[in-house]
Amino acid sequence: MTTRRPSFGAPLPAALNDADYALPGTLARRYMRCGKTNCRCKADPPVLHGPYLHWTRTVAGKTVTRTLTQEQANRYQPWFDNARRLRELTTELEARSLRVFLDAEG
Ligand SMILES: [Zn+2]
Repeated sequence: MTTRRPSFGAPLPAALNDADYALPGTLARRYMRCGKTNCRCKADPPVLHGPYLHWTRTVAGKTVTRTLTQEQANRYQPWFDNARRLRELTTELEARSLRVFLDAEG
């Protein structure tokens, strides 16, 4: 009995080769309140501090946050974009693989 083998398709997308760097996690722009009682951030309406650029990622199961300057955020944005694009490609690749597997194996 021969088993119909699924096609394993093209090599990984060129995007993978083009992505020279990819930073994990997310970069968020946040406005915050501080701990001082008589601060403008406690006024009505509040004037919050920021924006702060918080890079959040998971390291050994723990969330690690690091604040970046605007200049750093600009400089590393392509690396965050690369990582996001790679996650999208992985999701697409897994969905396509699952379809092929289910077609072949039932
Ligand atoms: Zn404040």
